Amino acid sequence: MSLSLHSLLNKYGVNPTLSGRYVWQKDKEAYGIEYPLPIRQEYLDLMKLVLGLHIIETDRLGDIATQLILETSFPDYFLPIIDQLQSLFLHLTDYRIELKVAPSRFKAKPKRLDEGSHYKKAVLFSSGLDSLCGAIEFSKQYATALTHCQTNQVVFHKALELSRMQQLNRSPLFCFNAMTKSTAGGMSNTRGLLFLSFAYSVVASLGMESVMFCENGSQMLDVMASSLVYPNKPATKNTNPVYIEAIERVLSSFGDKRIRIERPYQELTRSEIIAPLKNHIRFEQTFSCFTTRGKTAMCGICYNCFLRRMSLLALDIKENIRTYERHPFELASIEEQSESYQSNLRILLHVLRHYAKILNEDLVTLDEVKLYARDYFKNPIDLATRSAKDVFLGVMRSLETVEHAKLNQLGKKAKELLNQIDKSLLVDRSEELIRLSLIQKT
Ligand SMILES: [Zn+2]
Repeated sequence: MSLSLHSLLNKYGVNPTLSGRYVWQKDKEAYGIEYPLPIRQEYLDLMKLVLGLHIIETDRLGDIATQLILETSFPDYFLPIIDQLQSLFLHLTDYRIELKVAPSRFKAKPKRLDEGSHYKKAVLFSSGLDSLCGAIEFSKQYATALTHCQTNQVVFHKALELSRMQQLNRSPLFCFNAMTKSTAGGMSNTRGLLFLSFAYSVVASLGMESVMFCENGSQMLDVMASSLVYPNKPATKNTNPVYIEAIERVLSSFGDKRIRIERPYQELTRSEIIAPLKNHIRFEQTFSCFTTRGKTAMCGICYNCFLRRMSLLALDIKENIRTYERHPFELASIEEQSESYQSNLRILLHVLRHYAKILNEDLVTLDEVKLYARDYFKNPIDLATRSAKDVFLGVMRSLETVEHAKLNQLGKKAKELLNQIDKSLLVDRSEELIRLSLIQKT
């Protein structure tokens, strides 16, 4: 079946004209929205195409659709990327969709915006912890703009609220409205493509330098070594350096300027990113959960919640208990023990076993990590070891707060794994993190 992009977006109620630029005004409680979003028409067409692909993935339309037709006044921009984008989409989603460019009868000319470039870097701002750290740290060093794709109202409002903080009040928040009537939802592998394409469009339209993708290295490395870390479970491809570089290649073929996607935190663990900024972050306002989008409390048991919680505990930061719905190591009531709960605990157990092997210097695991990651990370073994120490330091502190009788299966296994690890490694690591906390980045 052939789909027209135009009618697909209409059917899903997409309205990119609701996108905007949000600037907090110093003395006022209200924010100002300026229309239209200052991105060039050809990039707006690119965003529509990427959003169309995102809908095809999230609503499983790839089961029936075989072709997507884009009508545009800028076919010359799209022709060089069509094949690459098709193959990237296939790798991300397993859907084989043929993309076709149809020149529009209306001939618009690509134009430069009058804006000029006030900003150097665009920080991709998801409302998660890493992107907030990046926004705070890099806004101090460069004139930055924050970019967000609005796929969920709760997360969007968190992003908006976070952008009000004093350290960010000179950085406007550019938002692309990607709200759709798509209902199937679930894990998306095109979310990264959507966010990166938008940041890229802002940077290219305004003549800025680069996009900053501030994901922590622990997660990027785990996602790369996914068959070791989460066997039989597909890992998100949104933070995998292989795909980020592939997306960068596609976007660089669109238009006339190659723009870099920088990954400034790729060699750092999440605790290392947070340590120097920890006094400046309102942790309760950030949202890191994979699975409870739309709710205000995070699930507490998905991989992302777990990594966040352990990384903060490694720094001795205790979050409000209402931050999460569940504790990963505490027995849940029978009603709370769904299949997804069990499946999350199984993944976390794999992650802990993987990290325990690294700390116990299991040579097979170390070699495999190196093999996967050597082309993308400077020292993957060292990064994996530091990540493992942070997580087990968090596990140690977390287990101290749960009575033995209340431990669930994962809690009991975590305790066994912790007992096999040389504790002096964790004590040394704790001191290292305290030293990092004393460096002031803001
Ligand atoms: Zn979660």
